Amino acid sequence: MPPNLPSLQPISAFPELAAAPLKVERGADLRALNTFGIMARARAYVQIHALQHLIELRQLLAQDAELAALPRLVIGGGSNLLLLGDVHGLVVHMCAEGMQNAGEDSDYRYLRAAAGSNWHALVEWSLQQGAPGLENLALIPGTVGAAPIQNIGAYGVELKQVLHSVTVYDWNSGEVVVLDNADCAFGYRDSVFKHVWRERGLVLELCLACPKDWRAQTGYGDLAAELAQAGIDAPNAQQVAAAVCAIRRRKLPDPAKLGNAGSFFKNPVVTRAQRTALQTVWPDLVSYLQSDGKYKLAAGWLIDRAGWKGRRMGAAGVHEHQALVLVNHGGASGAEIAALAAAIQTDIQGKFGVKLEMEPVTAGG
Ligand SMILES: Cc1cc2nc3c(=O)[nH]c(=O)nc-3n(C[C@H](O)[C@H](O)[C@H](O)COP(=O)(O)OP(=O)(O)OC[C@H]3O[C@@H](n4cnc5c(N)ncnc54)[C@H](O)[C@@H]3O)c2cc1C
Repeated sequence: MPPNLPSLQPISAFPELAAAPLKVERGADLRALNTFGIMARARAYVQIHALQHLIELRQLLAQDAELAALPRLVIGGGSNLLLLGDVHGLVVHMCAEGMQNAGEDSDYRYLRAAAGSNWHALVEWSLQQGAPGLENLALIPGTVGAAPIQNIGAYGVELKQVLHSVTVYDWNSGEVVVLDNADCAFGYRDSVFKHVWRERGLVLELCLACPKDWRAQTGYGDLAAELAQAGIDAPNAQQVAAAVCAIRRRKLPDPAKLGNAGSFFKNPVVTRAQRTALQTVWPDLVSYLQSDGKYKLAAGWLIDRAGWKGRRMGAAGVHEHQALVLVNHGGASGAEIAALAAAIQTDIQGKFGVKLEMEPVTAGG
């Protein structure tokens, strides 16, 4: 993303008026709201369909000491969430949907989308608009509003490469603030929303900058192989998206059939010396050189090599084909998934001296 993007007028795709008054539900069932399919309840639950709902919620909490005392958990599609038990707090479900063209300049076409919109629907819509750039991120589950939280990434592209700005509701001040790309301090599965804006920033909408001098990003091994197999050597954005979707459908379990949250661990980053030491023991170690001279290891390879692929602990398991994906075989509790994750972490630390960090956010329990 070039550093000198123009500053755009915020045009809120987030609906200004709520369709219905804000409703607080007690003891809401969260099972359908997390892709692990874990049974849990929320002490209190609200759906946010418009900015007005957030303003009403803030007013309500100012008058209701019991609700105000509850910790807040913001959720979108629940696809990067591990519920360890009931949530003794207030679940704020970001549901507002909407997408719009937000103009263009000589270099970019700008698209806006509201937080509750489905991410993949946005990718498809952007392609229909003739605005490529998001295609490598096709079929990532979840909502638009969650995408900047961990700077979603797949097949050689991260959100930060196509993001212009994020419109945020500042819970502390009640103001709407626009953060540009640099303000978001994006890193690998990281952003400012996990740090200074944590607990405080509710993402309302994103503005994406789709480059007019678009070039297919096909350097990622699996993607290049998929396209080559289809005999495509100069793919357009639709063909890249189709290839990404085909790989994902083949490789990743569908949460509607087998509860999961995608990659359960981040790929650990080690120094050159650590990587060299590991390679002497494990010559086929999978690692990728980073721009800072460190190496990213494939967490899935470590877990697979440690013999965890396909293993189960009760109803929690490691996927039979994807060692990086933990699954709920049916009726697993969040605590069971967490116990399996902890056993894997301990084993990987012991065998490779590498610490695995969880990717999903935990809540409840
Ligand atoms: C099968 C599968 C494959 C996946 N593949 C990938 C992949 O390739 N790459 C990748 O990066 N991720 C992947 N994921 C993880 C997940 O899809 C993404 O992290 C996604 O962005 C989460 O969106 P969500 O709406 O479900 O967020 P949730 O799980 O609801 O929330 C995740 C985090 O974002 C916060 N949050 C959500 N909405 C907002 C908001 N509007 N404002 C402020 N905070 C908010 C929550 O508090 C929480 O901390 C995959 C998951 C699954 C199940």
